[in-house]
Amino acid sequence: MCGVIGVMGHPRAVYLSYLGLRRLQPRGQESAGIVATDGESLVQKRGMGHVKDVFTDAEITNWPAHAAIGHNRYSTAGDSTIDEAQPFMQQTKFGKVAICHNGHLPHTAEQARQLLASGHGLVSTSDTAVVLGLLSQSEKDNVVDAFIDALSQVEGAYTMLLLTRDKLVAARDPYGFRPLALGKLDEGWVVASETAAFQLFEGKYEREVLPGEVLILTRDQAPQSLYPFPTTQPAECLFEHVYFARPDSKVFGSPVSSERLRMGRRLAQEHPVSADVVVGIPDSGMGAAFGFHEESKIPLRLGLTRDHHMGRTFIDPNYEIRGLKVKYKLSPVPDLLDGQRVVLVDDSIVRGNTIMEIIEMVRKAGAREVHVRSSSPPVISPCYQGIDTKSKDELIAAHLTIEEIGREIGADSLGYLSREGLLWAVGDPEGKRHCTSCFTGVYPIRVEGGTSKNQHEMVST
Ligand code: SF4
Repeated sequence: MCGVIGVMGHPRAVYLSYLGLRRLQPRGQESAGIVATDGESLVQKRGMGHVKDVFTDAEITNWPAHAAIGHNRYSTAGDSTIDEAQPFMQQTKFGKVAICHNGHLPHTAEQARQLLASGHGLVSTSDTAVVLGLLSQSEKDNVVDAFIDALSQVEGAYTMLLLTRDKLVAARDPYGFRPLALGKLDEGWVVASETAAFQLFEGKYEREVLPGEVLILTRDQAPQSLYPFPTTQPAECLFEHVYFARPDSKVFGSPVSSERLRMGRRLAQEHPVSADVVVGIPDSGMGAAFGFHEESKIPLRLGLTRDHHMGRTFIDPNYEIRGLKVKYKLSPVPDLLDGQRVVLVDDSIVRGNTIMEIIEMVRKAGAREVHVRSSSPPVISPCYQGIDTKSKDELIAAHLTIEEIGREIGADSLGYLSREGLLWAVGDPEGKRHCTSCFTGVYPIRVEGGTSKNQHEMVST
């Protein structure tokens, strides 16, 4: 998961991109970068770490440009070094181009080998660099066609932004795995992974860039849309709604907070429990906790607080503090938990060790009973579409039944929102628009060690 933003036709394009990246920081904290153009040349700045640490105030305010693209990285392919920080920039026969990517292309290793063997250099070891390599060696006679040519040779998840001296091109793969919203500015246009990125500077939400759409933005003309790829059933990431997206965003066109409220309400219907208080696990469990409270009428209490200022955890190897990583971030409020039967609501349970430590923390604070409710179904399979979920071996629900997981994590009871319930909560009750692979192990694309939807359909017919 990464964050991308692009601004076209605005005199403060760099500043707006910077602000947007700050808002998109939760989507990737490994590195950040911006490439911008004044119509003459492309200028790049990248660095490791958070956006606020990569750019100085002077750089942001004194960088003349009318168009820019920006990226926050969370790696799913390639090393964690400055060479892998995006946007990438390369000299091509079309002039300098820059590119950035949210998603994952799982089958580019062979293409990378071929490009290198034929004498085409790659700017990095990542899947994104292969797209830039394919674009550079394309025989098409303009950069947009060459970009489309390159994308038509890869399979997987991409929301990609391309910048030249006079164009910003945004593309979403035909499944639409990762989100991209289009907004109108007082001058010009903005595209971003989440609407919260441009809400900050009063960009007006226009619409989603559609699955399979290639959107061309220029300084003087209205946006132009192309649909060059074969269409397929969309597979937008369900986890964006559950966990990744900010609660103040719209994702895939839907307001995240309202969806999380519905998830919590449905969870309370599916897994009711007698309890004294509902406690959400901050931050992403809070929306569903509100919904659970509304539906169950059990009082909601802020029984856990989250510390946003602690920064990185330093673990002293000579002095072990049990559960320190979790305690570093979360702190219980004993007054609200002591003697209570608690419903703990979280967005998901992946490996199980975090929730185990939270349950222990809540019990130590005096809770009499701890009932756990998850606003997503059991995660049984890894993601190959842009999310660095764990390998199957590490996913607790891939190996244990729900009753066994409950015992393992030390809960008095455990309930997961059903897949049907989650799809209902995001307004897709028939499951026609969303990817559910990490809950089913059935993938829309070719994956190693999983079942692709096509294979699955052949088997089941
Ligand atoms: S496998 Fe899961 S995390 Fe990955 S795109 Fe699909 S729903 Fe999202």
